[in-house]
Amino acid sequence: MAEMKFKIAKPENAIQFIDLATQRKRIAPQIDAAILKAVHDGKYIMGPEVAELEVELAKRAGTKYAVTCANGTDSLGLYLMAKGVEPGNVVFVPAFTFVATAEVVAWVGAIPYFVDVLEDTFNLDPESLFLAIQDVKNKGLTPVGIIPVDLFGQPADYESINNIAEENNLWVMADAAQSFGATLNGKPVGSLADITSTSFFPAKPLGCYGDGGALFTDCDDTYGILKSLRVHGQGSEKYDNVRIGMNARLDTIQAAILLEKLKIFGDEIISRQAAADYYSAGLSAKFKTPQVMSGASSVWAQYTLLLDNEGDRQLVMQVCKEAGVPTMIYYPIPLSQQTGYKHYPSTPGGVPVSERISKRVLSLPMHPYLERDAQDFIISVANSAL
Ligand SMILES: *Cc1c(COP(=O)(O)O)cnc(C)c1O
Repeated sequence: MAEMKFKIAKPENAIQFIDLATQRKRIAPQIDAAILKAVHDGKYIMGPEVAELEVELAKRAGTKYAVTCANGTDSLGLYLMAKGVEPGNVVFVPAFTFVATAEVVAWVGAIPYFVDVLEDTFNLDPESLFLAIQDVKNKGLTPVGIIPVDLFGQPADYESINNIAEENNLWVMADAAQSFGATLNGKPVGSLADITSTSFFPAKPLGCYGDGGALFTDCDDTYGILKSLRVHGQGSEKYDNVRIGMNARLDTIQAAILLEKLKIFGDEIISRQAAADYYSAGLSAKFKTPQVMSGASSVWAQYTLLLDNEGDRQLVMQVCKEAGVPTMIYYPIPLSQQTGYKHYPSTPGGVPVSERISKRVLSLPMHPYLERDAQDFIISVANSAL
């Protein structure tokens, strides 16, 4: 049997990449009661749980307001609509991220401009951003904003990015789809940029039982506009629509689920951190284990290794697969090389770090219910590969 090759016995239960079933077991009665209550109450759209959730989310984010919406992608798009981003405007996004970050820029006819990332944190490189802004200005284009991504759960370098933004009169929207619950210099994600967007897709650190998202802001005007935009641009009179909006509300049932999940979220973040620490202590020096920026905490949406080269990654993936250890590549192709996006501009000199790391990253199973025996097995399998 394959597992005989490894020093550590294979755990009885199959290893999950993300284990939603165990979380479900932990709080099933509470969640089921919350869902049933929402169903019985019959206020399926914008029921009281939605407003209640927004209060709780804003508390965690350290902001005056939270505005929930249908999913993380819509949350990004809603802010671009709120800011009146126009065709031809330029918005800076990292080349190494999930597609939604750039997709929403193209929605409004604007130009997603790809900026490189740092090899240590996988997050937006302020120097590459600086060069990109100069390039856009030299070309006579109109830069309007920056969407840094908090990839794999840790905040981007907002101190540097906000400074550059301020000098150039740009807004900053944090794409915190993977980092809600993390902090930077003691401040929670939500309050690190002009506006923050997040996602409650089931596999995110705080996920619901379907699609969901939210935005965080301290600005009264932005809050009012976002609330209008998510309901077709409605004004104070229900049938006088004062702007072009969309249908982007969060379902009451999803809000009810999230209210229950929020109660154990802090505890789950602690478990994620412990699992990450255990990996980093046990994996051999052949792996570059993830680095968290000084002053930052991560919620470990992913635990992502950097291998020396593509061949080593292939080898580790193969050995893991044979042993029943699931792994994933986030992300195999930088956006700047994807078919739908390669005609958009990149920083002068390109995005070499994004191109390199997309061939070398590998994510291991990560969730709050990862048992020590499973981690011991994963570590021994991975270490045996190189
Ligand atoms: C998941 C994700 C999104 C989109 O969220 P959805 O809720 O799936 O629409 C956007 N940006 C990043 C970085 C993500 O990981």
